[in-house]
Amino acid sequence: MTEKDRVIISGGGPVGLICALGLARQDVPVTVLERNEDLLDDPRAATTHPATLELLDELGLEEEVRAAGLVAPVFQFWDRTSGELIAEFDHALLSEETRFPYVVQCEQFKTARIALSHLQREPNAEVLFGHEVTGIAEGEDGVTVTVRNGERSFTRTTPYLVGADGGRSLVRKSAGIEFEGFTFLEQFLVLTTPFDFQSWRGYSYRSYFADPQEWCNCFKVAADGPPGLWRTVYPTDPQQQEDDLLSDAAVQARLQKFFPKDGDYEVVHRNLYRVHQRVAKTFRKKRVLLAGDAAHVNNPIGGMGLNGGIQDAVNLAGKLAEVWQGRATDALLDLYDLQRRTVTTEFVQAQTIQNKKRLEARDEATRQANFRDLRETAGDPERAKAFLMRASMLDAERRAAALGAP
Ligand SMILES: Cc1cc2nc3c(=O)[nH]c(=O)nc-3n(C[C@H](O)[C@H](O)[C@H](O)COP(=O)(O)OP(=O)(O)OC[C@H]3O[C@@H](n4cnc5c(N)ncnc54)[C@H](O)[C@@H]3O)c2cc1C
Repeated sequence: MTEKDRVIISGGGPVGLICALGLARQDVPVTVLERNEDLLDDPRAATTHPATLELLDELGLEEEVRAAGLVAPVFQFWDRTSGELIAEFDHALLSEETRFPYVVQCEQFKTARIALSHLQREPNAEVLFGHEVTGIAEGEDGVTVTVRNGERSFTRTTPYLVGADGGRSLVRKSAGIEFEGFTFLEQFLVLTTPFDFQSWRGYSYRSYFADPQEWCNCFKVAADGPPGLWRTVYPTDPQQQEDDLLSDAAVQARLQKFFPKDGDYEVVHRNLYRVHQRVAKTFRKKRVLLAGDAAHVNNPIGGMGLNGGIQDAVNLAGKLAEVWQGRATDALLDLYDLQRRTVTTEFVQAQTIQNKKRLEARDEATRQANFRDLRETAGDPERAKAFLMRASMLDAERRAAALGAP
């Protein structure tokens, strides 16, 4: 083995780190290049679905993720205008389908840290912080990657380059892979508060609020320990300036409109996110592979983006290891593209777009039809189970597996 045999992963986010761990565990030498000096305390993803917990368990990470997060078997749909609980779904209905009939609410920086701590115990894995990939050049036998580390620039050649470098992926752009889809006009605002919405309002750890003017997601994360934090997510008016949206007065008004209470809310984070629905035209171009947000982005309603990314990472690590070890031809990497791109489009994109439509419906007849459908689905165990199979991403993983069946 020489330096040139190492697989290189651009991006040490949760997806890059988990892909690296999967490779290292299968004796493939791997280097992760991460431009930041350390993992960021990134407050984005939290919901980890049953299908992903199964994969994390195979890597020996599930127990630690569960211990760092909150177990949430139930989620709810509410109508904000009437204050009525429309439907509640309990993952217990999936107990014959999975060993993990719940989601775990674990902030993505914790999942990334757990993956990193395991990766650092693997002798054939290397994680280089403060190393930014600035260019790639594809050759017949490998990809040459240009890397900047402070004032210094150098190149490395790898048989396979994995772009796990997020939504603005330099790897994807440099490989000339289109990122097809659209960007929503409105940004999403996330406001985080320690106010206990369960004790005071009866909301479950994951609650979705339909509202013709301004929908909301409200969910709990463990943070640094009890009592934890609640994150609320809203759409914003595209005409409004960011400073106005994030001002103290605007933030308090928004929380009070949704959840009136005496006195101001304590707000510990406020973030605005631009939201897209995009899928790369291919997840594989010769020796370049894409995973996670570099390959697909979606709105966060339903919490599927990182889950899909972790599912990419584990799928890709398995196949790349087979190819690297010489046990399979590189045609196996086309199957990675087929499996993961198909489920990204059929499940993650379709589901998250539908989730948003359901919450934001304006027309009263449509809203009432949505509520009727949700009530009937929750009230019928067979339909509720089918709904949960999709929401938990178990259907997506099974569809991907079926695409790979001989
Ligand atoms: C408000 C919000 C809530 C969300 N909630 C959920 C949820 O509940 N569940 C869920 O599944 N998903 C959720 N998501 C989506 C989730 O956050 C992303 O899908 C996830 O971060 C993707 O992980 P990643 O590792 O692919 O990319 P990233 O987390 O973006 O990591 C990419 C890494 O690559 C590094 N990098 C970039 N360019 C370079 C370069 N040129 N060289 C070297 N390094 C580079 C970056 O520094 C970064 O560390 C949410 C998103 C938002 C905005």
